[in-house]
Amino acid sequence: MTTIGIDLGGTKAFAVRVEGGQVLATERIAFDRSMATLDAIYAAIEAVADGSETAIGVGVAGLVRTSDGVLVWGPHVPGSQVPVARSVAARFDLPVVVDNDANAALHAELQSGVAIGYSNVLLVTLGTGIGGAIAIDGQIYRGAGFAGEWGHVRIEGGGLLCDCGRRGCWETRASGPALARLARDVVTANPDSSLARVLGAGYLTGESVVAAADSGDETARALVTEVGRSLGQGLADLTAIFDPDLIVVGGGLGSVGESIIGPARRVLADSLHGGSLRVPPTVQVAMLGPAAGAVGAALLAEGEPSEHHG
Ligand SMILES: [Zn+2]
Repeated sequence: MTTIGIDLGGTKAFAVRVEGGQVLATERIAFDRSMATLDAIYAAIEAVADGSETAIGVGVAGLVRTSDGVLVWGPHVPGSQVPVARSVAARFDLPVVVDNDANAALHAELQSGVAIGYSNVLLVTLGTGIGGAIAIDGQIYRGAGFAGEWGHVRIEGGGLLCDCGRRGCWETRASGPALARLARDVVTANPDSSLARVLGAGYLTGESVVAAADSGDETARALVTEVGRSLGQGLADLTAIFDPDLIVVGGGLGSVGESIIGPARRVLADSLHGGSLRVPPTVQVAMLGPAAGAVGAALLAEGEPSEHHG
């Protein structure tokens, strides 16, 4: 069967068309908060639809009530109590399944990515914020519905204002915008610095800072390392709670690889209680990259063909 998978994050939507586990088409669509959430999802679906699809899966960065496919709320996407499943099903006349984007991405990594064969896995997505998903004994763990929202664990008193409205959340220190903000501070304070020359006057993103680091800019490398260390500290805290076999790091910023993951691994190993007497969990970059959430949503749609129809 052919299914469509959508992953709606804070700045872009990924759309894939999947048949028999093979990704046949991928599209990336810019998204910002001036667009309605449903309109962005419709546009993403239409970008990959060819009439052969028999179900649609949608992953959204936010609190998703999976029983009826409602986006209750998300800090990086507009709207609340958005009836995603009902609206998409009515518009495209297809069965629709809706889930949190990180849950969808972890589903994909367990089925066909880096987490094949692992039972106890955490997925940490670094993008506009930090998303999370948990697999225990091979099954996605949701708690009462919204487990894994550790981007909003408070890591410092006071602290920076988060998109969720509170202060000091982990994602204010380890995310694309966190890295971009660090770089902007440097460029503003030192307009003649090499980083200012490398980054230019354009719109700064976490990925552009990583690109500057990877091309050899020492300041950019220090900033990327700082974010990687913040990531690693959080991973150590999560390991104290879950002691996973594997931590998969994904999302737009997480998928850049070793420049972020390397420092995170070192801090994780140094921060675990028990020190060298225990083995830290394996930390791997998501194999399916930034499209993991969309692929996972398509795979979820394969698995639940008639739920939420109409
Ligand atoms: Zn927050």
